[in-house]
Formats: sequence, C-alpha cells, structure tokens
Amino acid sequence: MEGYCYTTECLRNYILKYFGEDPKKPCDDCGNCLRQFETLDMTDEAKKIINCIYESCGRYGKNIIMDTVLGAKTARLTEIGATEYKSYGVLESSNKNLLRRLIEELLLEGYIATGEYQVLKLGDISRLKNTETKVLVKITDEDKMSKRKEKPKKNKKGMDSLTSAGFKLFDKLKELRLEIARAEKIPPYIVFNDKTLIDMCAKMPTTKSDMLNVSGVGENKYGKYGERFIAVIKEYVK
Ligand SMILES: [Zn+2]
Repeated sequence: MEGYCYTTECLRNYILKYFGEDPKKPCDDCGNCLRQFETLDMTDEAKKIINCIYESCGRYGKNIIMDTVLGAKTARLTEIGATEYKSYGVLESSNKNLLRRLIEELLLEGYIATGEYQVLKLGDISRLKNTETKVLVKITDEDKMSKRKEKPKKNKKGMDSLTSAGFKLFDKLKELRLEIARAEKIPPYIVFNDKTLIDMCAKMPTTKSDMLNVSGVGENKYGKYGERFIAVIKEYVK
C-alpha cells in the first residue's frame, strides 16, 4: 500500500503487477498517468545513495545505508567502518522519510535491488549515466504539511521561550498547580498542563478575557482555577 501511494508509475499497472500480470503500457487515465501529483527531483541524492551502496559492497540493508548517508553517529556504523566511507554524511541535511521513499523508488526502477537478508545491492544503473535521466520522488500533501509544521515546532519548544524571569513565574504557577492537585486528589496536568503554564508566563494575563486567551484555558477551567492563577500572576507582576 505504501508503495502504491508513492509510486510515480501507472497506478493501474502497479495493481496488475501486484496480482502477477505483466501490463505492457500505461493506462493513460489514472492520476499518475495524468501527472496529477507533484514530484521532487532527487537525482543527486539517488546517485549518492548508489555510491554508498557501491562502497558498502552490497553488504548492508536500507537502515545502514540511510544512516551512513545521513551521517548518523551510531556504534554500529563505526563498527562496520561506514564512518570512513566517502559517502558518510553526504546527505546529512536530508529528510529521512524522503530518502526512505527514494530508496523505494530506486528499487522500483531497478537501479538497485535487494539480495538475501534484504541487503541492498546495485542493479542496472546504466540509464543514470545519461544526464537526461531524472529520479523523481512523489511529494504528498502530507510532506508539505510536515515541512510547514517543522519550523514553528522548533520555536515552540516551550521552555526555550521562557526568560529567567519567566522561569520564576513558571515555578510559582507550578506550586499553585501542585497545591490544587493535592487538594483535589488529581494529577497536576489535569489542572493545567505545562504548555498552558508556559503560555501564561508568556502572556501574563491579569483579567478574565486575557486568561481565556491562554492556550488550554476554557470557561470551565477558568471557573475552577482562573482567579487563583490570576492572583499569582498579579502578585508576580507587582
Ligand atoms: Zn495509469
């Protein structure tokens, strides 16, 4: 199913082949034949992966090859000497999911093949010697979304956005949270989770409407705890 999602070949043929038929030409009518998708040219990456497989003498599987080009720091890579390869770390800033799919594509197109124990070995790479040949990997909406999500995630690490003054307030809010949790015999995160407390430190709400703007604070929670937290924030601001 995963292969079906990411293949760029005729979708009808992909299914026919799965069931053992040998279709001779594309259907010219499916989403792939009509090119209703976006692709990324990963020819350079493909060549680097192929070089790495060459250097490994076809002894390793997908994970070792990917870790090698990504320049992963693992004991296994050191042990097998892959950290000495020319291709070690050549794709270190690449997206792991895309590389995984690129390998699938290379298998599908026969540039590489799997041997016993799923090791990767070279297939027929003669077509790649022609500079016109491109290796395209299909991009899904999900890829685009995950790219968009990645950036804010970094800033959102939460604690990073707290200044040292913010940390003091955070500690005070945590104290109050613990006090409430103990009194009500519930886990602290049920009162408010860390993300909410961090947001309180960032926004320092001192009114009900400000407090309702804090992530994770709704009318219900405000009714139960809002004023006590506002009291602590006001005290801190003073
Ligand atoms: Zn088709």
